[in-house]
Amino acid sequence: MAANDKFEGWLGLDKESVNGNMQWGEFEPKKWSEADVDIEVECCGICGSDLHMLKSGWSQTPYPCVVGHEIVGKAVRVGSEVKDIKVGDRVGVGAQARSCLKPDCEECSTGQENYCGNGNVSTYGSIYPNGEGKSYGGYAKHNRTHNRFVVKIPEGLSSTDAAPMLCGGITVFSPLKRNGAGPGKKVGIVGVGGLGHFAVLFARALGADRVVAISRKADKREDALKLGADEYIATDDDKDWEKTHKRSLDLIISTVSSAKMPLTGYLGLLRVHGTYIQVGAPDGGELPPVNAFTLLANGIKLGGSGIGSPDEIKEMLQLAADKKIKPWVQTRPMKDANAAIVDMTAGKARYRYVLQN
Ligand code: NAP
Ligand code: ZN
Ligand code: ZN
Repeated sequence: MAANDKFEGWLGLDKESVNGNMQWGEFEPKKWSEADVDIEVECCGICGSDLHMLKSGWSQTPYPCVVGHEIVGKAVRVGSEVKDIKVGDRVGVGAQARSCLKPDCEECSTGQENYCGNGNVSTYGSIYPNGEGKSYGGYAKHNRTHNRFVVKIPEGLSSTDAAPMLCGGITVFSPLKRNGAGPGKKVGIVGVGGLGHFAVLFARALGADRVVAISRKADKREDALKLGADEYIATDDDKDWEKTHKRSLDLIISTVSSAKMPLTGYLGLLRVHGTYIQVGAPDGGELPPVNAFTLLANGIKLGGSGIGSPDEIKEMLQLAADKKIKPWVQTRPMKDANAAIVDMTAGKARYRYVLQN
């Protein structure tokens, strides 16, 4: 495998790939460097972002593209410059494969590599600087990533539970933590999907006073309460939800990616000086318009958050192992990846599909 630098995986060749038309085939991973780790993929979660990328929803995808950025597997080749990973270790890779890593980079030097503005490379669909090739994700047999973005998986977490935490988990853990979700705080989670279900689990684990799951329909109510939510709002089904729950939350994390979401309604759920953080990433980046008075009349803050840093990922995994956090995962064979992405698009995951080799 490592010698001829050809890996195999599910190639998205065009926009149609998202409709269950990925093709199994060979691809050339990034050029090997002695800072890299080659991983034999054991499993890989299916993130909503995989669908956006396969269909060129955000911008033109550089096909062929192998998606998947919730990767867990075994280190099978470790570069000579890598210090803390050995061949045989169980490791994971999330949505980021590289940043500039320069000592004078404000973000990279302060543990905020996920916000590096100077040479960020995503785990799939990115072009490496300096002619090193393209990045390819984990719907594959192998993955190659720079060691800074390869984390060890703590004992006590199964591979299939850890995998979806590497993007779905960290994307909500990071803003929950940075915005003070914990004792004394009432937290709302919009969208009970892969990210949303992690947000309920982590808000609970961080000790928030009250966790409110906000979904469209009434049918996920029981699941949300089992996950640990204290309350459930169904925006399509609960009449007058905006009035009933007005000014009741300190922090909202929204995982929804529809440009038609009732954003003004969500913002009205915030208490004075509350914070709304958008993590759902709509096609084209479009959000509904927001009236300035919605913000200033309640003194609220509108923000966003992108994945999390390697250090934050390590902290989250350890917390999950220590607190025995149990995500709701449905495993599917890697060979059935096409069927799994079709089901994911249809909203059938409860709440994360994980592909297994
Ligand atoms: P997911 O499992 O499909 O969950 C998305 C949830 O959004 C659904 O369960 C649904 O919740 C809600 N939703 C879907 N369509 C909707 C619509 N038309 N109107 C209103 N709500 C709708 O996907 P995911 O993996 O959690 O990913 C969610 C989003 O986060 C994606 O856009 C993904 O690209 C993005 N993401 C961002 C980052 C980041 O760094 N910021 C990282 C990872 C993923 P209900 O059924 O409960 O309404
Ligand atoms: Zn940087
Ligand atoms: Zn993701």
